[in-house]
Amino acid sequence: MIRKIDKNSIGEALRAAYDHCKNDAGGKNADYIPYLKNVPSNLFGIAACLPDGELLTVGDTDFRFGIESVSKVPTALLAMEQYGAREVLHKIGADATGLPFNSIMAILLENDHPSTPLVNAGAISACSMIRPTGDPAAKWQAITGFLAELAGSSVAVIDELYRSESETNFNNRSIAWLLKNYGRIYDDPMQALDLYTRQCSIGVTAAQLAVAAATIAAGGVNPLTHKRVFRSELTPRIVALMATVGFYEHTGDWLFETGLPAKSGVGGGIMAVVPGVMGLAAFAPPLDSAGNSVKAQKALSFIARELDLNLFGTTRCTMAVPAPAEA
Ligand code: GLU
Repeated sequence: MIRKIDKNSIGEALRAAYDHCKNDAGGKNADYIPYLKNVPSNLFGIAACLPDGELLTVGDTDFRFGIESVSKVPTALLAMEQYGAREVLHKIGADATGLPFNSIMAILLENDHPSTPLVNAGAISACSMIRPTGDPAAKWQAITGFLAELAGSSVAVIDELYRSESETNFNNRSIAWLLKNYGRIYDDPMQALDLYTRQCSIGVTAAQLAVAAATIAAGGVNPLTHKRVFRSELTPRIVALMATVGFYEHTGDWLFETGLPAKSGVGGGIMAVVPGVMGLAAFAPPLDSAGNSVKAQKALSFIARELDLNLFGTTRCTMAVPAPAEA
């Protein structure tokens, strides 16, 4: 069955989700990174980016928050763009660990690979792969430039967050050295860790994440700029990775509930991709025990139900108006 949705039905779903969730007081801000503890807990926003680049927003969608683990998505895509999806599969992997995002146990159990570029170990490994290796400044340009192209606007590090993370990332340091031990760091390990820490500290808005998700949904063409950012065959690869591990050890629960591939970060952001249809994002700082935003999960899950976005369902959702062609 095909269900046609349009700007009006999506806008209504966003507003209804906002009203449904705005008073939810569940969860609490991440506190293991001091900066995140102090972000106002009542911030809440939802954004959708449609195939013609139009943005629908409700709430705090212009507030810049720490991208955190959502940054693992663009860097994984960039690694696949530079090396090919097979090589990333071979060097990092694509399997869920079933363990927390920063698990050392997961590396010990799977010592042949770091599991997936969407957990800390695989993301540090991916940062080590980014070309040009041996040149951290140029690698950083490649990472931020790629994210900006996905999001259709520039991004910058939140300096205070970067300091806060760098001063407290002892667990991630252990991960980097352990991966080095297993031959899964493809450049200098401490430089790879620093790139990873910096990319997690980039400030983004929910609106920017929705555009980035829409670029993935559109097979690599940014619907705002009409520029091709990555090869279209990488969309099913990255969406598969998001579906597999986007919510860490709660990913099965999320997928069971929504059937919507998405990636969360401890800054409170979640980016969801509806392939061939649109990009969605939601942001609210308080998190559940696995590190996923309580309100953002609730809102996106509400929207998925309202619009029949479950990829495993028998109804296929399409946009009433098709996307404009690539420039
Ligand atoms: N920078 C965070 C960390 O490495 C990201 C974690 C997350 O968002 O899940 O601990």
